[in-house]
Amino acid sequence: MRIAIIGGGIAGLAAAYELEKARTAGNPLEYTLFEARARLGGSLSSVVVDGAVIEQGPDSFLTEKPAAAELCREVGLGAELLPSNDAARKTYILVRNRLVPLPDGLMFLVPTKLIPTALTRLFSIKTKLRMGMELLLPPRPSGLQDEAVASLVERHFGAEAVDRLADPLLSGIYGGDAAQLSARTVLPALVKMESEYGSLTRGMLAAHAKMRAKAKETAKKNGTAPTAARPAPRAIFTSLRGGMQQLIDALSARIAHASIRLSAPVAAIEKTADGWKVKSGGVVESFDAVIFASPAWAAGVLLAPVDAALGEELGGIPYSSSITVNLVYDESKLGRLPDGFGFLVPASEGRAMLAATFVHRKFLGRTPPGKAVIRAFLGGTKNEALLTESDETLVAIVRRELREILGEKIIGLAVEPEYTQVARWRRAMAQYAVGHQDRIARIAARVDTLPGLRLVGNAYDGIGIPDCIRLGRKAAKELAATVVQELTSSQS
Ligand SMILES: Cc1cc2nc3c(=O)[nH]c(=O)nc-3n(C[C@H](O)[C@H](O)[C@H](O)COP(=O)(O)OP(=O)(O)OC[C@H]3O[C@@H](n4cnc5c(N)ncnc54)[C@H](O)[C@@H]3O)c2cc1C
Repeated sequence: MRIAIIGGGIAGLAAAYELEKARTAGNPLEYTLFEARARLGGSLSSVVVDGAVIEQGPDSFLTEKPAAAELCREVGLGAELLPSNDAARKTYILVRNRLVPLPDGLMFLVPTKLIPTALTRLFSIKTKLRMGMELLLPPRPSGLQDEAVASLVERHFGAEAVDRLADPLLSGIYGGDAAQLSARTVLPALVKMESEYGSLTRGMLAAHAKMRAKAKETAKKNGTAPTAARPAPRAIFTSLRGGMQQLIDALSARIAHASIRLSAPVAAIEKTADGWKVKSGGVVESFDAVIFASPAWAAGVLLAPVDAALGEELGGIPYSSSITVNLVYDESKLGRLPDGFGFLVPASEGRAMLAATFVHRKFLGRTPPGKAVIRAFLGGTKNEALLTESDETLVAIVRRELREILGEKIIGLAVEPEYTQVARWRRAMAQYAVGHQDRIARIAARVDTLPGLRLVGNAYDGIGIPDCIRLGRKAAKELAATVVQELTSSQS
C-alpha cells in the first residue's frame, strides 16, 4: 500500500511515525510526506539563542492529555519532559491597565470559592452579586441548539465575566473570540452541568465532591489514608527541556529514510477508480490512500474537485492567525516583574497584545541565569491586520505596551532587549465555531464515501498538540490495519 501524507506539522509527523512503525514491523507499505515549507513541524518551532529556549509557536502541551508525553517517551525524550513551574503559577488579567490576579477557585471559568470571588478586584459588585444569584438557576433542558461560549457565560455570570474572563482565556488558547466559539465543543462539561444542575457553580462543586468521594473510596479499598490516595497534583503544562523542536527533530530522525519532500506543496489531487493521484512540483504520483494533515482550508481547496460539498465544509472552518514576539532581557536591567507566569489582555483594553508570558518563570532551566524572556502574543481574530506590520514595528508595539502595562520602573524606555524574535502564524489555529460538531459530522459522512481518505490536524477534534498527535496516529493505524487485513485475506 502507498500512502501520501499532505502536511508535515505535528499531526502529519505523528501519522508518518506510526506508518514507519508498521513498515518496520514488516507490513508492506510505503509512504511519502509532502510538506509545503522548507522545514517540518508546522506550528512547532523553537530555537536556542545563547542558552535561552525561544518558542516561536506552542511552548508546551496540556499534561492531562497523555498522547503528547507518550509520544515523547516513545521517541526517547522521556528524560527531556519538563513540567511547568506550577508553584509559581499565577495569571493576571489586565483591567483598566492594572494587573489583577485571577481569583483562587476558578475552574473552567466558573467561580467555586466564595471569599476569593467576593474579594477579587476582577469583577464589579454587580457581577459578584450575579455570580451569587447564579446558584439559583434552574437546570436548562438538554439537547438545545449549540450556542457561543459568550452567550453561555453571559447567561450565568454576566457580560463582564465574558469580557474579563472567557474572552481573554479563550483567546489565549484558540486565538479566538468567545462570541464565535462553540460552547458545546469548547466547554462540553459546562453544557452538561447546565442541563443537570442549572447553576455551573453548583455543578462544579458537585463534580469536585464526587472526585473527593471517589478518592476516599479508593483509599479505603487500598487500605491507605485518603490523603495518600490523592495523587500529587500534576503540573498543568508539560514541555521539553530543549524546546518543542526536540519532538520534531526526534520524529524526523525516525522517519528520515522514508520519502520526505520538503518545499513540496501539493497542488492538486484526484480520485481514481482504485486510489488517489497526488500532484506536487509538476509530478503526479499514485497512492492507495491519502492522509490530509494540512489545515482544513488547504484540504478544502484540494478536495473541492473531488467532492464539492466536502471542499465547502472544510473551507467553512474558520481560522485565526497569531504572532509571537520574544524579547530576551538582561534581568538585572529590569525591575521586579509581577510574580507568576504572565498576564492576559481583554479586548476591551484596546491593546495589540493578547497575552504575555514570563517564560523564565513558567519553565525553569530553559533560560540562563540572569536572563528574562518575555513572550507576547498578538493578532487573533480581532486583529489580523497586525500580520502585515514589520518585525521592527511589532517589537516596538510590544515594548511600548509592556512599558505602559508593567510601568516604567520595571521596563524603562531605555532598557533594550538583548535579542528579539518575531514569528507570524497565518491561518494556523482552527476556530471551533458554533455548530462545529454538526459540521464535523457532515464532513465525516462525506469522508466515509471516499475510501482511503483521512483528515487529521487541529481543525477537527481538539486544537492542542496532544489531540493532533492522537488523530495523526489513529489515522495511520487504521490504514496500516487495512494492509494487515488485505494481507490476511490474500493468504487465506
Ligand atoms: C502561536 C501558537 C501557539 C500555540 N500554543 C499551543 C500550546 O502552547 N499548546 C498546544 O497544545 N497547542 C498550541 N498551539 C496549537 C498547536 O500548535 C497546533 O494546533 C498544532 O501544532 C497544529 O498541528 P497540525 O499538524 O494540525 O497543523 P500545522 O502545524 O499547521 O501543520 C500543517 C502543515 O501543512 C502544511 N501544508 C499546508 N498546505 C499544504 C499543501 N498543499 N501541501 C503540503 N503541505 C501543506 C503546512 O505548511 C504545515 O506545515 C499553538 C499554535 C500557535 C500557532
